[in-house]
Amino acid sequence: MDTQLQPDRIIIFDTTLRDGEQSPGATLNVDEKLAIARQLARLGVDVIEAGFPYSSPGDFEAVQKIAQTVGIPDGPIICGLARANRPDIKAAAEAVKPAAHHRIHTFIATSDIHLEYKLRKTRAEVKAIAADMVAYAKSFVDDVEFSPEDAVRSDPDFLYEVLEQAISAGATTINIPDTVGYTTPTEFGALIRGIKENVPNIDQAIISVHGHNDLGLAVANFLEAVKNGARQLECTINGIGERAGNAALEELVMALHVRRQYFNPFLGRPVESEKPLTKIDTRQLYKTSRLVSTLTGMLVQPNKAIVGANAFAHESGIHQDGVLKNKLTYEIMDAQSIGLTDNQIVLGKLSGRNAFRTRLKELGFDLTDQDLNKAFVRFKELADKKKEITDWDLEAIVHDETQQAPDLFRLERVQVSCGDHACPTATVTLRTPDGQERTDAAIGTGPVDAIYKAINRVVTVPNELIEFSVQSVTAGIDAIGEVTIRLRNGDRIFSGHSANTDIVVASAQAYVNALNRLFSALQQQEPISAQKSEISVEPVKVSEATPVQS
Ligand SMILES: [Zn+2]
Repeated sequence: MDTQLQPDRIIIFDTTLRDGEQSPGATLNVDEKLAIARQLARLGVDVIEAGFPYSSPGDFEAVQKIAQTVGIPDGPIICGLARANRPDIKAAAEAVKPAAHHRIHTFIATSDIHLEYKLRKTRAEVKAIAADMVAYAKSFVDDVEFSPEDAVRSDPDFLYEVLEQAISAGATTINIPDTVGYTTPTEFGALIRGIKENVPNIDQAIISVHGHNDLGLAVANFLEAVKNGARQLECTINGIGERAGNAALEELVMALHVRRQYFNPFLGRPVESEKPLTKIDTRQLYKTSRLVSTLTGMLVQPNKAIVGANAFAHESGIHQDGVLKNKLTYEIMDAQSIGLTDNQIVLGKLSGRNAFRTRLKELGFDLTDQDLNKAFVRFKELADKKKEITDWDLEAIVHDETQQAPDLFRLERVQVSCGDHACPTATVTLRTPDGQERTDAAIGTGPVDAIYKAINRVVTVPNELIEFSVQSVTAGIDAIGEVTIRLRNGDRIFSGHSANTDIVVASAQAYVNALNRLFSALQQQEPISAQKSEISVEPVKVSEATPVQS
């Protein structure tokens, strides 16, 4: 990390694990957060906002584990979010402490509407709290970030005063959030310029931006902020986050990469400079996107910029012809630059364990022997059904076999009968957590409905299915299908994911995976002992009672 106060490059602050995880239903357990944090480190983000430690014991544990394992000396800065009060800041300080580089990010609202209705405090009180709490955070760490929540709707003159105080108290990054996703590019750029011109000690801090995509403008707003002096961008993979989400990391990074000559002068560089504007390894973007999508159950729309399935597909004949003659005719960037390899056939039925392991290594998967064995069994099963196995198939298998909820209920067998003159009927056999095998059957409106009813007869945990989607991973009639489902229990949402050439089997498995997450969360709610469990504690979602900056 640059110690230089005004770097001539852009600092990427990833908040997938904090703001992104606040997406409805994107709940991640500790192991899943760790897997994402490791991948974010490989991607090369400068800062990982790992969570909001005070919000729940699960979040605290996740931030602490990420600080311990990902916060290595040449790794990213690990950051914890804290409201501007002592207990929050203390919890954040403890959680990030194990990291070699750590940061506390504290915030308080500065807009009159938040002051009056949420905080019930005067401007003078807010200004004093901001300074006090930045100083308190500074007593634990050198690296303190301060955000005036709802900055965009705050009175600029008051905002300047608060920022000046925060910097005087020791804030080294001041972050300007468009909390409600309300601003437009020109307006946001002017706000950043105003801060640069009117906060007397602004040269002692890095200006950061945070913003939501309610009007689809988050990325555009950020790029305008860069032109006006912002040097840190807070963003998430696939743009996930509260409501319409955050600015998407992959879009910002590729915009700054593809259009670097346009942005160079704004960072004080020569126009022709080829020096990258961020430290991101763009070839890791696609894989990171897939990992976050699989683990959160938040699917990426096909026409999503950069990482959508169609982002590099050329359908029309004219375009295809042009691209074949010269890629530059219709492509502004190369699919390989985001790590999208040609979906080539890599393995077949006769490929051995060594070839399998080698290819996985090349794809960046470093599996334990146990996970490798599980994945290899799945690979052999798939190779029996499908002649040619591609990289994408391998990725689907690995995600499916190694990144799953605890195996409380296990799907042993599923069988359906359906057709236009038949009543859809399913028979399922599950192994229950106490090791019993139980078989039950049900009829439904269709095969998947019948399966889910049969599974529910065995699992007997109340739940409501709220989303079911099937996507094909690869092309062709023997393609692997991925099923993602979300179900609700009370006010909590759990997702499940599975991939198989048989979508009926994938549907059953995805449902069992989601039920396992639900079941494990319910078990952890029961007070079993005073001692905190060492294994994954499902984080409690931040409720209305603990308003958090979005
Ligand atoms: Zn936010």
